[in-house]
Order: sequence, then C-alpha cells, then structure tokens
Amino acid sequence: MNDDLKALIRTIPDFPKPGIQFRDITTLLLSPTGLATTIERMAAAVDGPVDLVAGVEARGFLFAAALAVPLNAGVLLIRKDGKLPGATIAEDYALEYGQDRIAIHADACAPGARVLLVDDLIATGGTARAAVRLLRKAGASVTQAQFVVDLPDLGGADLLRGEGLSVSSLVA
Ligand code: IMP
Repeated sequence: MNDDLKALIRTIPDFPKPGIQFRDITTLLLSPTGLATTIERMAAAVDGPVDLVAGVEARGFLFAAALAVPLNAGVLLIRKDGKLPGATIAEDYALEYGQDRIAIHADACAPGARVLLVDDLIATGGTARAAVRLLRKAGASVTQAQFVVDLPDLGGADLLRGEGLSVSSLVA
C-alpha cells in the first residue's frame, strides 16, 4: 500500500560509515504529494486523542510538527542533551560504540498527558526506547509510536511492542 512512499525514499550505501545502508528520507520531503500522503497516513493510524506529539531530533521534528496540526495536538521536542534552554530531564542510551543522551524540558508535559512518539525511522529501537523512558519519567502516558520507516530486521519495533506500545510505520 505504501509502495508510492517507499519509492520516494532512497538508500545511500556506506553512510555514515562503510557497511551501513542509510535510508534517506530527504527525497520524500522534497515531494509535496509524498509529504502530504505521509502525514495523512500517519494521522489515519493514530489511535484515539493525543495531547502532544513528541518528535526526536532532528528529522523526527518535521513529521511530529506536521502530524500535530491535523491531530490538534502540540509538539514536544526530544533533543540531544545540552540544546534546550530550560531545566531538563535526560535519559542515556547505548549506541553501537558508546552512549548518547536525549533530553526534554522538565515541564514539557502535564502528568498523564497522552503523548504520541514520532521519528523518521526505527532501527534497533535504542533511541525510541530511551525516548519512551524519558517521557514516562516526565509523567506522560505513552502508548503509541509511529515511524515513517521501520527496519524490522533490527528488531526495534518489536522491543517497543514488548514494552506495551502499539507501533506503526509506513515503509519497511
Ligand atoms: P535506533 O536507535 O537504532 O532505532 O536508530 C534510530 C535513530 O537513528 C533515529 O533517530 C533515526 O533518525 C536514526 N537512523 C538510524 N538509521 C537511519 C537511517 O538509515 N536513515 C535515517 N535515520 C536513521
């Protein structure tokens, strides 16, 4: 069903390092109909009312903001640590080599706020799982996550499902 969108996403070999097949969504963003269709299909997959759409820096911001408008929701920014100006809470997560840390403003969501997590792509799920831990630490109710692309062989979406989220994506 989403072959039209898949055709707009290109694969760049050996980026950012040899052996990685990077899925590049910038070509999808360049297409007015591709972008509109992506947002329409993401919106159609949302289950129930959402107060905030949380986007992961940086490509996740684009889809989160566009999706928040038809959902009548706000946008919550999940940023690399050190970028947000106010008081933050942060969460560490493991990378293939080393660690990274994401943060949100400590007062970004009211307790019990219904938050939909959005990113451009899920691979191992390390980023998304850290984002869910962070949002839950802030008191959010996070029950669903959406991605434009899932790399199912890397298992991240299944790990998120194992943590009680409903997970959907448009392109595998
Ligand atoms: P994960 O933490 O392994 O699931 O990786 C997902 C995160 O890395 C997301 O924030 C993506 O934006 C980014 N990412 C990993 N691989 C790719 C890719 O092939 N294309 C675009 N983004 C990627």
